[in-house]
Amino acid sequence: MKHSYPAQTEQYNFHLIHGEKVCSGASSSAITDPATDQEIASLPVGNGSETDQAVSSAHQALNGPWKNLLPYDRGQLLFRLADLITRDAQYLAALETVNVGKPYSQAMRDVDRTARYFRYYAGVCDKLHGETVPLGPSQTGWVQPEPIGVTAHILPWNYPISTFARGAAPALAAGACVVAKPAEETPLTALAIAELAILAGIPPGVLNVVCGNGSTGAALAAHPQIAQVTFTGSTATGRKVMQAAANPIAGVTLELGGKSPVVVLDGADIDDAVAGIARGIFFNAGQICTAGSRLIASASVHDEIVDKLMGFAKSMACDHGLNDPDLGPLISRRHRTRVSGFVGRARAEGLDCTLGGGCANPEAFPNGAFFEPTIFSRVPIQAEIAQAEVFGPVLTTHIADDFDHALEMSNATKFGLVAGVYTPDITQAMRYARDVQAGQVFINGFLKGGDTLPFGGVKESGIGREKGLAAMASYTAQKSVVITY
Ligand code: NAD
Repeated sequence: MKHSYPAQTEQYNFHLIHGEKVCSGASSSAITDPATDQEIASLPVGNGSETDQAVSSAHQALNGPWKNLLPYDRGQLLFRLADLITRDAQYLAALETVNVGKPYSQAMRDVDRTARYFRYYAGVCDKLHGETVPLGPSQTGWVQPEPIGVTAHILPWNYPISTFARGAAPALAAGACVVAKPAEETPLTALAIAELAILAGIPPGVLNVVCGNGSTGAALAAHPQIAQVTFTGSTATGRKVMQAAANPIAGVTLELGGKSPVVVLDGADIDDAVAGIARGIFFNAGQICTAGSRLIASASVHDEIVDKLMGFAKSMACDHGLNDPDLGPLISRRHRTRVSGFVGRARAEGLDCTLGGGCANPEAFPNGAFFEPTIFSRVPIQAEIAQAEVFGPVLTTHIADDFDHALEMSNATKFGLVAGVYTPDITQAMRYARDVQAGQVFINGFLKGGDTLPFGGVKESGIGREKGLAAMASYTAQKSVVITY
């Protein structure tokens, strides 16, 4: 292997509650390396009792040591945590690689991003200003942001470490305390970061991790002492979380699925577009909420783009993530069965599978969950494979008669996470950005930018915004105060 297997993955057999390892649970769940299906750890599945302990510990910290820290000092602790993440980056990247299956350099990018989230929000701690409101000569009003309380973070398996940081870092910066529940498949790096938080000097109870499955997540979302639930996952589960959070009237941020379009119009730079489309659908084996899974192209450029994408896909090395290939396995063979199901039904409908469509690398990895880069060409926009989130390296292509047709097809799903357009025409670019239904739009550079821009969806892709300063709104309550004199 190009990178070594991380040592002692089996040491992760606990929840991290109030700074302590807690090993109890309703049952246990095996964590596997998706390239080989070998067990690498066994985690307890938290039930109501562990969830209660974690929430109560977070409340103690909220009203104790975390509340009493100066904002500057809170920031210094988050900077220290970021430094420890950077110090341990190689280990964390290897841990993420063997748990998620993704190529090592992609995992390293996620770790780097995790440290950057903590650094960015560390700098916010002592800059959370309120404002004054003019009320006349004998009254003064002001608004002060206060920590919202204890926040729950329910996480997905595709970007476990960075999604954890994306929610926990702004919550902690706001002075809130956190209970996170990683996806049942991928809890290892959240536990590793929570241990580093203790080493950084963050008081026990400020950052807790309860491992478990959907029932554990449901118990957390419905917990009466949770003030905000930040959920990243599928639209179906997001709906349940929103209902559960209605009971204690907690705030919700839902980062859900997508079926994002990438439009390429006449005169666009084809090589730039191909690079963006390939990154958008084959990166992380297509298991990206923002995957550009629908190519909508003018007839004049469609075939050239598909040819170049096929050339790119055929050149992709497919291997164990620690060998840092271009393509790793899907998260599990169960998920591969789901992806294959979409592909099989599309074939049965008579759709044109131009590339791939099957298991990848079965000789080298008979028990692995690899899936080939796949393209279905000239698909009717209402076909299942063009409407549902496949969450694998599967692209559909669609011919646009003109700009309006491209826009209409872009908006023709229930999702609205991100959208991309490649065009040299500034008017088309501006009209597309104005009229496409999406939370984020990329012009001439799909998925470019960074994590300081607000991120989130419209329609069934979610509600609320993470990243950037916009995230702070979820973790602060605005208190208005009026003094009369
Ligand atoms: P999922 O909805 O199956 O699970 C997400 C999390 O919810 C897991 O931790 C799971 O244990 C928990 N959960 C399951 N049932 C629950 C319940 N009833 N109550 C509370 N929690 C429950 O999603 P997944 O398969 O882990 O992730 C893939 C999905 O996540 C895709 O749809 C993808 O688009 C989406 N996603 C979105 C973003 C984004 O930022 N918009 C980012 C990553 C992934």
